[in-house]
Amino acid sequence: MGILRLSHVELRVPDLELAAAYYTEVVGLLETARETDRLWLKCWDELQHHSLILSDAPTYGVNVVAFKVQYREDLDEYEERIKAAGIATKRIGRGELGPGSGDTLRFDAPSGHTIDLVHGMDQVGNMLPLNNPPPEPLGLVGIHPPRIDHVFLMCEDVDAITAFFQEVLDFRLTEQIVADDGHQLATFLERTHSSHDIAFIVGPQSAFHHVGFWVDNWNDLRQAADICAYHGVRIDAGPTRHGATRGWGLYFFDPAGNRNEVYTGGYWADPDRQPVTWTEAEMGRAIFYYEGVVDQRFLTVHS
Ligand code: FE
Repeated sequence: MGILRLSHVELRVPDLELAAAYYTEVVGLLETARETDRLWLKCWDELQHHSLILSDAPTYGVNVVAFKVQYREDLDEYEERIKAAGIATKRIGRGELGPGSGDTLRFDAPSGHTIDLVHGMDQVGNMLPLNNPPPEPLGLVGIHPPRIDHVFLMCEDVDAITAFFQEVLDFRLTEQIVADDGHQLATFLERTHSSHDIAFIVGPQSAFHHVGFWVDNWNDLRQAADICAYHGVRIDAGPTRHGATRGWGLYFFDPAGNRNEVYTGGYWADPDRQPVTWTEAEMGRAIFYYEGVVDQRFLTVHS
């Protein structure tokens, strides 16, 4: 019952063809639908129709972050709770948001981001048979992460959005970076028992920091850096270790300026796990454990 995991992210890109080439050939996602101004993509091991939507727009950034719910009734329950928190909601029927789309509950979170809760997206399968499957289909190109992993968003009041995700959407806090004055500078929240499905950091309201795709191990992360370098994709940071979440990550930018990450590692988070706290003085180590400092450039939206 409730939110299962991150479903998909819709990103703005000013040049849809260029972004399509990057996401299919460098990241190695699979195109599942296309209209003149939008493109739907999935990672190879995902069963559902899409985990990334690219939307033609004059600027870059995020339009929608969507989470998958287990039951259709979850949408009714969350609709009541979100309304009780004083936030307007909108119901959108299956198929109305484009190819493959499920029943959707849409609202604007206190961080300024548009959030969708989705049930019943079309299932298209992962290209592997259910009987005696090989570990991976042949012919995949680029990084080809098996699945989307998390999003990292920015907003002015991290305390408020964290409380909203915990109290209204039933997320669990795994880690936080707390300022000397007691305010949360960054928080990591999960529904999947992973280290995080979504994270927030102090910054401009409604801003996008990155979308993280899962890779299976450190060697795949290193190979992702090779692939970025080969294609001339500018690497922002890594491959490196995070203090917070204990994961390993590599950051780079899509042609529009949206930050991407490939991520692996982290830990299993039982629901009764106590949150880890990083102090303001150790914020650099929380984000980049080896370097111990975080460049101010990394704390901005821009490429
Ligand atoms: Fe990340």
